[in-house]
Amino acid sequence: MSLVSLSDGLLLTKQMVLIPHLVAAVRKKALEGGNDLRQILIAANWKMNKLASEALSFSRDFLPMAGDHTNIEVVICPPFTCLYTLQNCLNGTGIRLGGQNLFWEEKGAFTGEISPLMLADAGCTYVIIGHSERRQIMGESDVNINRKIGAALESGLIPILCVGETLQEREKNMAREIVKEQLRKGLQDISMANRQIVLAYEPVWAIGTGVNASNDDAQEMIAFIRSYMEKIYDKAIADSLRILYGGSVNEGNIADFIAKEDVDGALIGGASLQADSLAGIVRAVQNV
Ligand code: PEP
Repeated sequence: MSLVSLSDGLLLTKQMVLIPHLVAAVRKKALEGGNDLRQILIAANWKMNKLASEALSFSRDFLPMAGDHTNIEVVICPPFTCLYTLQNCLNGTGIRLGGQNLFWEEKGAFTGEISPLMLADAGCTYVIIGHSERRQIMGESDVNINRKIGAALESGLIPILCVGETLQEREKNMAREIVKEQLRKGLQDISMANRQIVLAYEPVWAIGTGVNASNDDAQEMIAFIRSYMEKIYDKAIADSLRILYGGSVNEGNIADFIAKEDVDGALIGGASLQADSLAGIVRAVQNV
């Protein structure tokens, strides 16, 4: 049974609406049925934290604590300087690596930048693009984000494109418009044919603040994002696309997010830095 046909034909009973874990259970059943296009993804964004020695002790602690994580996909996005160490210690564990940024050229006179090829060579499968910290602190534009998405896809990396509104924008009722524009510009002329991309809805006001969006708000925006993707691509692409929530996710709230129909995982900053806390998140997802 394909996930698409399942979601088309899925009858959401009142009980399921009241007990959101049932929805997740149905989705999980679909995955067991062979379609893992929307397998739950837990992506850790370490930002500018950890030395290589700390990454090494993290993985030594994390792996036994995380337990069985075969039903979900776990990705760690460390600073570039930890990639080599993690590539060695995560080899064979099923846990994947991602970069936190890239430059769109393959090589050359671009001091301080890193190419998609270099990330792939360092063991990355994923790359975060357009994180709000890069948009706000480094002044990253939608045009450059679009170039980065194109370059990542060309090199076989899976981009995790981050979008989200600021508090001011939300208060002005502009959240949807902002997110839509970020998607429109970031994905301009990007073909999805035979390519995988992940989207992450990360309201800026929820990142690193301890104030997460409610799971209903996350679901509402992510459903809107999915419908917009259907508009600019098609239903099959929109239905198979993984869309994450990010912003103050932790061990205590992750299950509520992924229980929502359209939320396919989370991008996690602060709570991914400690091995026991990331392992707790993985276990909580695995147990849903
Ligand atoms: C992030 O940096 O992408 C993020 C969601 O951070 P935090 O989990 O700390 O809010």
